[in-house]
Amino acid sequence: MTDLRTLPKAELHLHIEGTLEPELAFALAARNGVTLPFADVDDLRGRYDFEDLQSFLDLYYACMAVLRTERDFTDLAVAYFEQAAADGVRHVEMFFDPQVHATNGVPVDVVIDGLQAGFAVAAERFGITGGLIVCIVRDHPVASAEALIEAIAPRAHELLGIGLDSAEVGYPPSLFEGVFRRAAELGLHRVAHAGEEAPPSYVWEALRLLAVERVDHGIRSVDDPDLLAHLAEHRVPLTVCPLSNVRLQAVPELAAHPLRRLVDAGVVATINSDDPSYFGGYIGDNYAAVASLGFDTAELAQLAANSIEASFADAARKADLIAQVRAWAASA
Ligand SMILES: [Zn+2]
Repeated sequence: MTDLRTLPKAELHLHIEGTLEPELAFALAARNGVTLPFADVDDLRGRYDFEDLQSFLDLYYACMAVLRTERDFTDLAVAYFEQAAADGVRHVEMFFDPQVHATNGVPVDVVIDGLQAGFAVAAERFGITGGLIVCIVRDHPVASAEALIEAIAPRAHELLGIGLDSAEVGYPPSLFEGVFRRAAELGLHRVAHAGEEAPPSYVWEALRLLAVERVDHGIRSVDDPDLLAHLAEHRVPLTVCPLSNVRLQAVPELAAHPLRRLVDAGVVATINSDDPSYFGGYIGDNYAAVASLGFDTAELAQLAANSIEASFADAARKADLIAQVRAWAASA
């Protein structure tokens, strides 16, 4: 079997807060004098049996309380980049949730500074490129999202884009039309979680009202043939996260994952890890899961090439990385 960890790839759907391993959570809690509502590492890890998205989010936000200082965010990012580099990741477009950190008393500038320092380490140590995508937490008030956009406006040129995440059902993209319009004025790329648990109408809204350039998850698009055709025709990429979908029961089991149907419909699908600490695997594990679904080496290389094409890297970087994927496929 080919080693999929050597396949060059981009990670486009990665919440940095979702890379917080229990060991680091307890280390940061001790460093910052924060008390976690769990007895120890084993107790925390034992609670990773999620029934749905919301049951995960409750635990996720509790753990995020340990992240307080610039150094915490740098340490978190570097720990992720070490894992990503070992999995063949060459380019990362990283989500972060400033509204949640603000509720813990951490200003957005502290988060950005800490994560940017992590990217600097990743560039120097691993040659990894990429940038930050500021995410709107959709179950917080819209006014909070509007305030966040104005808070980051002076630094918009330092960011890649805006995203939309957290609890999906009941918080349709239409709520954030004004926020995304403002983000576009600031020159930010636009992506949004849609069609993870909610129906295809949420994906249509993200496309038509938020003018997103990629859809995060988007797996429920298989329920709407017109939407599938639209995504394929306009080459709107989906950032698919197979192990996340299984762990949050968005699909009943891996074998029932709709990735094959998306690919057969001509959709530009990419493979990503979402919140890897919580969902049973980093991106290499997700590629291995896809291989177990019957995708062969050439198809896996195409999925990696898709991740590079779907990224916001510049043309020269994309060409370099695509050439690396082709070289890998030729020698595989
Ligand atoms: Zn996500």
